[in-house]
Amino acid sequence: MNVRVRFCPSPTGSPHVGLARAALYNWVFARHAALNGGQGTFVFRIEDTDKERSTEESYDALLETLRWLGLDWDEGPLTGGPHGPYRQSERTDLYRDVLARLADSKFTYDCFCTTDEVDARRKASGSKVQGYDGFCRELDPEQRAAFEAEGRSPVVRFRMPDGEITWHDLVRGDVTFQTEFVPDFALCRANGDPLYTLVNPVDDALMEVTHVLRGEDLLSSTPRQIPLHRALVELGVSKAVPDFGHLPFVMGEGNKKLSKRDPEAHLFSYRDEGFLPEGLLNYLALLGWAIGPDRDVFTLEEMVAAFDIKDVNPNPARFDLKKAEAINASHMRLITLEDMTERVIPFLQRAGVLSDPVTDDERRLLDRAMPLVNERMNKLGEAPGLLGFLFADEESFTRDEADVEKVLDESGRDVVRATREALGALDAWDTAAIEEALRAKLVEELGLKPRLAFGPVRVAVTGSRISPPLFESLELLGRERSLARLDGALA
Ligand code: GLU
Repeated sequence: MNVRVRFCPSPTGSPHVGLARAALYNWVFARHAALNGGQGTFVFRIEDTDKERSTEESYDALLETLRWLGLDWDEGPLTGGPHGPYRQSERTDLYRDVLARLADSKFTYDCFCTTDEVDARRKASGSKVQGYDGFCRELDPEQRAAFEAEGRSPVVRFRMPDGEITWHDLVRGDVTFQTEFVPDFALCRANGDPLYTLVNPVDDALMEVTHVLRGEDLLSSTPRQIPLHRALVELGVSKAVPDFGHLPFVMGEGNKKLSKRDPEAHLFSYRDEGFLPEGLLNYLALLGWAIGPDRDVFTLEEMVAAFDIKDVNPNPARFDLKKAEAINASHMRLITLEDMTERVIPFLQRAGVLSDPVTDDERRLLDRAMPLVNERMNKLGEAPGLLGFLFADEESFTRDEADVEKVLDESGRDVVRATREALGALDAWDTAAIEEALRAKLVEELGLKPRLAFGPVRVAVTGSRISPPLFESLELLGRERSLARLDGALA
């Protein structure tokens, strides 16, 4: 089978998780189709006909979203392709041409009505149907001339057929709309600017899209688009009406639809916190799909192998941040130490922990420190908090104030004093020797429970009650700096 799917966001605002899920499902659908000798093409198109709301910043953010997630596109911006250009703002001539052909064949008509006139007629007739009433459908030349003489310029409306529109939705099964509730709709503004209602289906037709997989919020536009697609097939603009599948809503807190305003909806916040793209992709996949019972963690490759749009659950999916974090944590366990080290470097640089470029000394220390923390981190963004103390010089080193208050009280400082004494007398400076000396002093001699013994030392030296293993940390920090920090905590 030759499958062509598209991801066609509008470059408005910051990319959100619903959008990323749509990209993922389309991408996986295409890659799955290509597995067994078939063909699958993932088309990336930018729907930027709304000039007021589209921004270049948002366009860049969309490219970055797909790049960061690793969802490569076969046709689209930068890549190009046989159906370009892939930004709708550059396709105006194509739309004009299609509009002219639709008008020639009477699939559309010019409409001169104002909204007020339509509303007034609606009120007078008591009709409950919202939208346009078809008044200009059969204007005669005199009426037309009269409107034009008044200086009105028309919008172009699509002539909806009578009867009902049914399609077999790939996710929801058969869906039927009565066309009496789907009024004739405008395809372009009075100034000739084409609208989403035109350009979205026209581009799907021109780009030979076979499957339209998109969010359920767009379900109500499908009964308008299918008749338009049929008209385009009749005109020879395209060969077939695509299949449609509407992906379930994503719900946020309180069972409300996750909206762009919800902070957890913003894709880049996950990237910036240090989610792995593979972790986030895995979680996004679960918003409507499962690889099997009792299995949550899988790779993109496994998803490609197993994905079938028929298995997508039409019921709303709940966005669960805790679960997203747990899934990400599982993926953190799946990557190699070397890989994780490379990936934490930018986070450490942004936090000012490492220089850019990383110096040889920093790199050596990082390579020794990573094995202490790689299994403790659930997100890459935790690295600066865990490792910062190792790279901080004594001027910039700080301790968490709440932790200081909690453990470096009178008795905590006694522990630090005893530690200073024991470690100051130590010849060898390695983990085993440090551990032995501290156990002998604090646990055996002073009779402290390990938790009480090592908590104050940890805060004194690392600045926090949460840190890599203590004895190893001391070794990595070195004798001089460790002793300086113990002194600092006592000062
Ligand atoms: N540009 C539309 C949107 O972002 C896409 C509609 C579609 O997928 O058909 O909502």
